[in-house]
Amino acid sequence: MTRHVSRKCDIFMTVMVLILSCAGMWSCTPWNKEAAIQMVEGTQYEGFCFGIVADVQYADKDSTSRRFYRDAAGLLADSVEQFNQRELAFVIQLGDLIDGGSTAEADLEQILSIFKKTGARRYHVLGNHDFEGIDRKTVMSKLKIERAWYDFEVNHIRFVVLDGMDLSVSGGWPVDSSNYQQGKAILEELKTAGAANAYEWNGGVGAEQMDWLKGVLQDARDRRQRVIVFGHLPLTPQGEAHTLWNARQVATILEESDCVIAFFNGHRHNGGFERTRGVCYVTIEAMVEAPRQNAFAIVHVEKKQIRIEGFGKVNDRTFVLDSR
Ligand SMILES: [Zn+2]
Repeated sequence: MTRHVSRKCDIFMTVMVLILSCAGMWSCTPWNKEAAIQMVEGTQYEGFCFGIVADVQYADKDSTSRRFYRDAAGLLADSVEQFNQRELAFVIQLGDLIDGGSTAEADLEQILSIFKKTGARRYHVLGNHDFEGIDRKTVMSKLKIERAWYDFEVNHIRFVVLDGMDLSVSGGWPVDSSNYQQGKAILEELKTAGAANAYEWNGGVGAEQMDWLKGVLQDARDRRQRVIVFGHLPLTPQGEAHTLWNARQVATILEESDCVIAFFNGHRHNGGFERTRGVCYVTIEAMVEAPRQNAFAIVHVEKKQIRIEGFGKVNDRTFVLDSR
């Protein structure tokens, strides 16, 4: 009984936070530009590169007018070949590795056999399609990851991976789990409020993950590290169909941290770029919708700039870090 009441309480609090943050009523402390500039001057690291790819969305099925499911396997193989010609610190895929459905498990095996040919260390972000027709436990076991959100370091840069399907009806969670039930409650509230992102294929970041994120950013700040964050669902522009349910809340934490320099995501297949309060929000174009050109990137992390070397549909971009 107590557990039931406490879960209802959690759901109520999460929904209230979402409503307040969507309405712009969440209190924001001013961005500390001075502290951010001190971070730039005090941080020392050598340059390095990593590979990035989003929404491979492979499936052994026929193409639609825009999505080329079978072709995605060849496109990923081409990107792996390019990645292997460089010295990369790691390669990360930003979720929706498969399209899901009745062939989900076999599709995941097939696409992983290609991704595994990457010589560099591999990291995974979880997306909504990864759980269509396959449960979370099986997906994580096949990807060989113990936690859906985690962090790692390369040359004094901190990398953070978020799970935007943490609270969702499409996150591979059992129906009786708190994550599913909280996701369901939030989705119903958003639908009632007429929110643009009130879709079952979206999700939100839960309270435990949010607390963990704040802790990692505090630790990074204490250690004078810069931080790059990855997620499947975009945080910007807010009020758009694909955006994370509690995007404003997460973006506020990143922007006020004074150490986060970039957020990379997929999910919105057309890609996109926005820079807000010192954080560059980069949506990588979907590989499944790039049958002729392909879509992936090599990101060069340098002392004073981040340079995206785009391949195919992904644009080249450089953002200078000193200007924040
Ligand atoms: Zn997606």
